[in-house]
Amino acid sequence: MDLIKDLFFNLSLILLLMFIINLWSERYNKETARRFLTAFGLFLSVLVCLSFSTEVSGVMVDLRQIPIIIGGLYYGFGPFLTISSLLFRWLFYGFNPGSWPVLPIYGALAIFLWLAHPWFLKQNARKRLYVSLTSVTIMCAMIFINLLKLGHSLSELKVVLITTFTQYIGICMMSYLIEEMKKNEFFREQMVKAQKIELASHMSAAISHEVRNPLTAVKGFLQLASEDQSIQDPTRRYINTALTELDAAEDVIKSYLTFARPSIKTVEIFEVRDELIQVLNSLKPLANMNSVEIITEMTDCGYVVGDKNRFRQCFLNIMKNCIEAMPLGGNLRIHTYLMKNQIKIWVCDTGTGMTSDQLSRLGEPYYSTKGKKGTGLGLMVSFSIIRQLKGMIKINSEIGKGTEFLVTFPAFVD
Ligand code: ADP
Ligand code: MG
Repeated sequence: MDLIKDLFFNLSLILLLMFIINLWSERYNKETARRFLTAFGLFLSVLVCLSFSTEVSGVMVDLRQIPIIIGGLYYGFGPFLTISSLLFRWLFYGFNPGSWPVLPIYGALAIFLWLAHPWFLKQNARKRLYVSLTSVTIMCAMIFINLLKLGHSLSELKVVLITTFTQYIGICMMSYLIEEMKKNEFFREQMVKAQKIELASHMSAAISHEVRNPLTAVKGFLQLASEDQSIQDPTRRYINTALTELDAAEDVIKSYLTFARPSIKTVEIFEVRDELIQVLNSLKPLANMNSVEIITEMTDCGYVVGDKNRFRQCFLNIMKNCIEAMPLGGNLRIHTYLMKNQIKIWVCDTGTGMTSDQLSRLGEPYYSTKGKKGTGLGLMVSFSIIRQLKGMIKINSEIGKGTEFLVTFPAFVD
């Protein structure tokens, strides 16, 4: 009974510790500071577990596998936590003959955690829990077999079973805590993003209208001036440069207006394939310039209701980005198909790809990695058009391999 009490007290302590550390780490924006704090919290948890190590019928039991497995799978600290747990265990309790057989078990655990971490993060929450629980089960089974080999009787090993059971509870609670905190963070990010977008759309609606009219007047007068034959060369060049810059400014304003206008003005029924072909035709010069080969597989996938000009604008922005992501050439694939009354448009490039951080920032106003060449408005507009057309977008990307966009629209049915 004392053992169970001890284990549960130990468990509450490490849960509390992780909770506090997570609260602290939320204050920091820098990923490295957060990781450092988490690593520190997990390390402290390992120390707490070691200090609660108890010997029952000659068997030492503790809960250190919980922080090691959770820290290894969720945060990639497996080797660090495993090695420090072994070192501190020997420091606290000395190195005895029973320590030798544990070495390969913990070594294997460290390697497994290290290799499994990137794969683990890509799984869904339920699978993550199963993997964590399976890891504890395998660890405990190996320790159990090891102790049997060392000559312990089955009745003595009852404590290992009790510890395993407590570890299950601990892993479930820790996983739940981490998953919930991840969800909260995601919602908070989404809220901040939504606020930013709302602000940008209000500002853009107000400013664009005010700026557009004087710009049109300036452009008109400059065009008139350039028609004057008596103008000499440097002045003509200045006028032409001014006109090009005005065109660029107009482009930006047009993007903003598309984004700011919430409702679709023209509603018509248009064929997806036809519109996409037009977009591709207008992108051909840019693709040729970048030695990008366009590969299409477009079935007759159906019709969408909405403004086809905006639909074209949306895919122009997406595909232009794809081509720009392949400055040394590559393939741009477009594949369209119909599935359960949903039109799916899959666009994929073999370009530079993006990190998960870059991916999460897509669609933010002014987010661009292209310096002066980019406006950071393209995808913001595309996302807004997709929302207006009641569609959805999913993006996957891998650095060095490329990016894929899957856009889904409800198909028009008579
Ligand atoms: P801009 O093209 O003006 O930079 P966008 O909103 O169109 O603005 O794109 C924002 C950023 O997203 C780009 O600067 C680029 O870093 C990234 N991006 C978008 N599409 C891709 C892609 N297909 N491959 C790699 N990076 C991309
Ligand atoms: Mg762009």
